[in-house]
Amino acid sequence: MKRMDATQNGSYDVIVIGGGPGGSTTATLVAEKGHRVLLLERDKCSQFKIGESLMPATYWTFKRLGVIDKLKASQFPQKYSVQFYSSSGKASAPFYFYRNAPHESSVTWQVLRSEFDQMLLENAQEKGAQIERGVSVHEVLFDKETVALNPDAIGAVGVRAKLADGRIEEFSAKVVVDSTGQSTLISRKLKIRTTEPELKKASIFTHFEGGIRDEGIDEGATLILHTESKDSWFWFIPLPYDRVSVGVVGDLGYLLQSRRECDGTLSHQAIFDEEIAKCPALKPRIARAKQLFPAKVTKDFSYRASRIAGNGWVLVGDAFGFLDPVYSSGLFLALKSGEMAADTINEALDKEDFSAEQLGRFGTDFVAGMEAIRKLVYAFYTKDFSFARFLKRFPECQQGIVDILSGNVYRTDVTGIFGPMAEMCRLPEDKHFSGP
Ligand SMILES: Cc1cc2nc3c(=O)[nH]c(=O)nc-3n(C[C@H](O)[C@H](O)[C@H](O)COP(=O)(O)OP(=O)(O)OC[C@H]3O[C@@H](n4cnc5c(N)ncnc54)[C@H](O)[C@@H]3O)c2cc1C
Repeated sequence: MKRMDATQNGSYDVIVIGGGPGGSTTATLVAEKGHRVLLLERDKCSQFKIGESLMPATYWTFKRLGVIDKLKASQFPQKYSVQFYSSSGKASAPFYFYRNAPHESSVTWQVLRSEFDQMLLENAQEKGAQIERGVSVHEVLFDKETVALNPDAIGAVGVRAKLADGRIEEFSAKVVVDSTGQSTLISRKLKIRTTEPELKKASIFTHFEGGIRDEGIDEGATLILHTESKDSWFWFIPLPYDRVSVGVVGDLGYLLQSRRECDGTLSHQAIFDEEIAKCPALKPRIARAKQLFPAKVTKDFSYRASRIAGNGWVLVGDAFGFLDPVYSSGLFLALKSGEMAADTINEALDKEDFSAEQLGRFGTDFVAGMEAIRKLVYAFYTKDFSFARFLKRFPECQQGIVDILSGNVYRTDVTGIFGPMAEMCRLPEDKHFSGP
């Protein structure tokens, strides 16, 4: 196994697999401390990805990464609020993030992922990480393959990867970070990936050019619009270049299986069109807009690993878990876990301690914030629950809701709203997390 390959002066401290927002964040914050970081990204160049709306609390990670000025200079529309539309097409009052905290961190962006992911990767490179594109990691290597399924008995020592020229090479490092997104390389291999049966969803989505946005500070707002039966909901996310991202989410059974199990894009397109016809608040916004590519589909995206780290390895972003598209928490949690993982890795490198306990130190805190968002996801999917009714009965909970929608789950105690909320819908128990 290579102790070094493309590096000039020794082995890698950290190998990061996957150059999405989570991986770029960890790579940046470890490399800027002077550690040797190799980031391996499968795609030769950043391309279309779904997941385009940010939560305001990403501001604090962007600040540490040093990209606030780049975001301000970008074409990405500013997002001041999120607004919900009922099944009858009635709009709630927008939830403006700045109401609670009038600071520039209360406004965020709607991003085109090809440009956003590229910006974060370039930043990681500027801060000293070695970025290799077109390199697909086939396997994480552990020190004892024979007990590979017992995470406590093994340690990650490197990766086996296919290089851009087709050669297979092995690279070693003190810490391997899995930030492969929904590929979940390590949690699949160690069989520690658990699904969320009550969030068994599917989504069909595309981009339009020329959709009708609201005006003024509402121009960049995320809209969440229910269909008539409340069996599904749409997102409407304004993007640069007069584009808008539109996607529908519903139970897998409802959206794909019950009508027809479909393979071709045309059938997905047909379902997408049928759902638009059932969404009174969305239809007029895109009636004259031009769809830019056939509708794409994804499904079974809610899962979580039962642990976040092991000896010599750490999970970041979707490689650890993903909740649900509603509330746009995916990028926030990827960035936040990327940041928290970087801090524990930097500490591990200082102490020369690469144990599961050290590398997983951020797990309990990270999961607590994720749980708060998860509870609000369950409330959203309760058919007879509505935020308007909830806040009419418990107006004192307004701040807590805005805090969660903003991603302020690590800076503020938001749990106070769940007592009252449990009187109006069934909230889930915290998901088992064995640590570390
Ligand atoms: C339908 C839907 C809608 C969503 N909408 C939103 C939204 O509006 N807002 C939001 O915040 N989130 C949203 N998300 C979630 C969001 O897309 C993800 O949470 C986010 O992209 C996670 O970032 P990441 O860095 O963990 O993973 P990713 O962004 O998926 O990056 C993983 C990277 O790893 C690379 N990779 C994978 N395997 C390998 C390998 N073997 N070797 C090398 N490289 C590899 C991939 O090419 C990729 O670049 C949505 C998700 C879904 C399913």
